[in-house]
Amino acid sequence: MIHEHRVLNPATEELVATVPATTAAEVDTAVTRATAAQRTWAALAPADRARLLRRFAVLVDEHAERLALLEVTEAGHTLGNARWEAANVRDLLDYAAGGVERLTGRQIPVPGGIDLTFLEPLGVVGVIAPWNFPMPIAAWGTAPALAAGNAVLLKPAETTPLTAQYLARLALDAGLPQHLFQVLPGAGDVAGTAVVEHPGVAKIVFTGSTRVGKQIMARCADRVKRLTLELGGKSPNIVFADADVEAAAAAAPMSFLDNAGQDCCARTRILVQRSVYERFLELLVPAVTSVVVGDPSDEKTQMGPLISRAQLERVRGYVPESADGIRGGAPTGPGFWFPPTVLTGIAPDAPVATEEVFGPVAVVLPFEDEADAVRLADATDHGLAGSIWTRDVGRALRVSQAVRAGNLSVNSHSAVRYWTPFGGYKQSGFGRELGPDALAAFTETKNVFIGTEA
Ligand code: NAD
Repeated sequence: MIHEHRVLNPATEELVATVPATTAAEVDTAVTRATAAQRTWAALAPADRARLLRRFAVLVDEHAERLALLEVTEAGHTLGNARWEAANVRDLLDYAAGGVERLTGRQIPVPGGIDLTFLEPLGVVGVIAPWNFPMPIAAWGTAPALAAGNAVLLKPAETTPLTAQYLARLALDAGLPQHLFQVLPGAGDVAGTAVVEHPGVAKIVFTGSTRVGKQIMARCADRVKRLTLELGGKSPNIVFADADVEAAAAAAPMSFLDNAGQDCCARTRILVQRSVYERFLELLVPAVTSVVVGDPSDEKTQMGPLISRAQLERVRGYVPESADGIRGGAPTGPGFWFPPTVLTGIAPDAPVATEEVFGPVAVVLPFEDEADAVRLADATDHGLAGSIWTRDVGRALRVSQAVRAGNLSVNSHSAVRYWTPFGGYKQSGFGRELGPDALAAFTETKNVFIGTEA
């Protein structure tokens, strides 16, 4: 059994830290402690809980640069991205804090009495996070779960536990009850499984691969445990001939190169109407080759390394050496580097065109008309995100409604905003995070009828 995890800097392969791996017995202790802390937390006045969460947000803000640098070091994120991520955690805590005092039930008109609903906390929630956005994804589950009156056990990915541990220290410094928010680093099949299977954990929020998501769903089924799944994606970027083709080509590279393509919403299937296909490719060449790839701690860098050697090998395995396309530059030497890559002439049903690569690799596929675009856009098992480029408002709305994906953007590539709901269709998962209903996902609705005619 692994007793500790080595955290490497993906840009240099240097050892950053070793972190003890949580055992199943330690998970059990953590659940007992979290259960007690949750009772204390839920008994506080809502205004006090909101105040403590706001104080937590203030501390995240004060430590944002430290958190960002830690994210650069353990995850290879560019400094600009890492700063955004720390700020996102702060904003999520603030937004969730605003919900504590607005988490209201309803009074429903019924004959013979009064009917009330209560939104009660679930108890202890397990948040299992991936390595690709360690801080924000941990906070998407943690902030609303805490705000709704729950305790949280956060299991970060093996490769990226450091920012999570730092956040847990800040929560304590902010005055949140001890053991209310605990970070349990360790192996997915040990610490992760123990959290999923523990009867004292009421809900799992899992973000990660579709493969592991399916295993977790099966395990949760045994106990009818509540579950939110945020899984993989293979998102289309649909460019119609009536679009601003220059703007679409300029925006396309960073829509799949951000975070070196290790983004569940990456627009890795660029679908271009045949009449503008050649023009779009001409414009795409300089846009892709000018992306600055290198040292993530340099403010000018737009794309850093992949997270690990295993991920590098996985990405390489998807890209045929002889494939036509556009390739950017990348550093050589230590670090897990893969160049920006756009493949052309690929069959629409090839693995690289339908499966999540999770690297800086996209394919460009031509389409004939609107119906063909929608058919191609939906031709994967995933349904997380997508973009539609057109100047025709009617078409923008028609295609947005037709494509089976949870997060679409028109003439832009935005996907995740903490104000708006986020989640997948099909095998990209179920349940929604973020947005105005985020807290409700961490409650049970209890209905109470009070007879008034006795
Ligand atoms: P992963 O599935 O390998 O691991 C995710 C987490 O689950 C890690 O903490 C891991 O330790 C844990 N885990 C692994 N096996 C487990 C088990 N049997 N029981 C419990 N926990 C277990 O995914 P990853 O490689 O870390 O992350 C990349 C994946 O995450 C990609 O597929 C990506 O699309 C997905 N992702 C989805 C979203 C979204 O919101 N939809 C966001 C980001 C990433």
